[in-house]
Amino acid sequence: MTELTGMNRAELTEWLAGRGYPAFRGKQIFEWIHRGVDFDRMTNLPQEMRRKLQESAVAQPVKIRLHQTSTLDGTVKFLYELRDGNCVEGVLMQYKYGFSLCISTQVGCRMGCRFCASTLEGKIRDLTAGEMLGEILAANCFLSEKDEGKRVSHVVLMGSGEPLDNYEQVIRFLRLLREEDGIQISMRNVSLSTCGLVPRMYDLAEENLPVTLCISLHAPNDEIRRQTMPIANTWRITEVLEACRNYLQKTGRRIIFEYALVDGVNAGKEQAKELAELLRGMQCHVNLIPLNEVPERHLKGVSEETVRQFMCVLEERHISVTRRREMGDDIEGACGQLRRKTLATSRREKSCGSLT
Ligand code: SAH
Repeated sequence: MTELTGMNRAELTEWLAGRGYPAFRGKQIFEWIHRGVDFDRMTNLPQEMRRKLQESAVAQPVKIRLHQTSTLDGTVKFLYELRDGNCVEGVLMQYKYGFSLCISTQVGCRMGCRFCASTLEGKIRDLTAGEMLGEILAANCFLSEKDEGKRVSHVVLMGSGEPLDNYEQVIRFLRLLREEDGIQISMRNVSLSTCGLVPRMYDLAEENLPVTLCISLHAPNDEIRRQTMPIANTWRITEVLEACRNYLQKTGRRIIFEYALVDGVNAGKEQAKELAELLRGMQCHVNLIPLNEVPERHLKGVSEETVRQFMCVLEERHISVTRRREMGDDIEGACGQLRRKTLATSRREKSCGSLT
């Protein structure tokens, strides 16, 4: 089966030409796919063509297997099911400016960060560009079922997986977002979060895809960073920051540093001062993330007072800082938690395909 979702219009047209279909069908099918429509509802195609396509190709590779809506703020957590039975998560958040969807780029992750639930069983596989797009298309269908015209306007690559560890497919996906007649999401509305794969950060700066780059820093120095992030053994913080400066210079986009406060590890006033010193003079923003405690991980979050103090130290030193809004706190907010819970339940029920 050929997954058509990851093709751009030219590739799709060529694929169809190889099967004897005229070029205008490429445009038609491309538009349908980007509207989240499957072959059976592509009403301007002949029945026979739809039937044939259905036998050899896939238009919508991602289904919503289950969803949970937060009663606190309306945030929706999706458990997406892929065609091979694997599952990934997505989170849909409503802001004043629109709907933002957090998508996954890999099933599992091999980066091994100690606080993260997505990486507990390593990487299972990369997602294709078509599957990443499929996550948005499925969310759009979910939204428009409730209210015609509502759709995802912002995308963050912050679900499970390390996007820069699946570089080629992620770049293909980003290019699809701005194809003519497609879903049309501007790079200005896209954020990509990485634990800091330095060579790929340099590559990304050259792609002419000026997304907002978010760096999972989580420490003011290498010694502390190594305690929770294995990637810190490969790249030093100074090397990550150098790659950030290059990105900033090439794209003009300020860098966002993510910093999850972990009790007894990185959350003291001393660390806040060190962080301020590290980032001094850089065009950046710090996003403090309250730690989502993952039961398997034995790391503890910090009190409201500690967050406030940490913020204060940064503000005094003129570092732009916000505290990430805790959204969907009642719905398995942390990366990978919903999937793990469902996986565990399915294991007991022996019904989750390749996940068992
Ligand atoms: N691999 C990418 C993107 C996925 S994680 C990266 O490392 O950036 C998205 C963000 O959530 C990262 O900043 C990650 O460090 C953070 N994160 C993961 N688990 C968390 C947890 N339990 N509590 C708080 N933040 C967490």
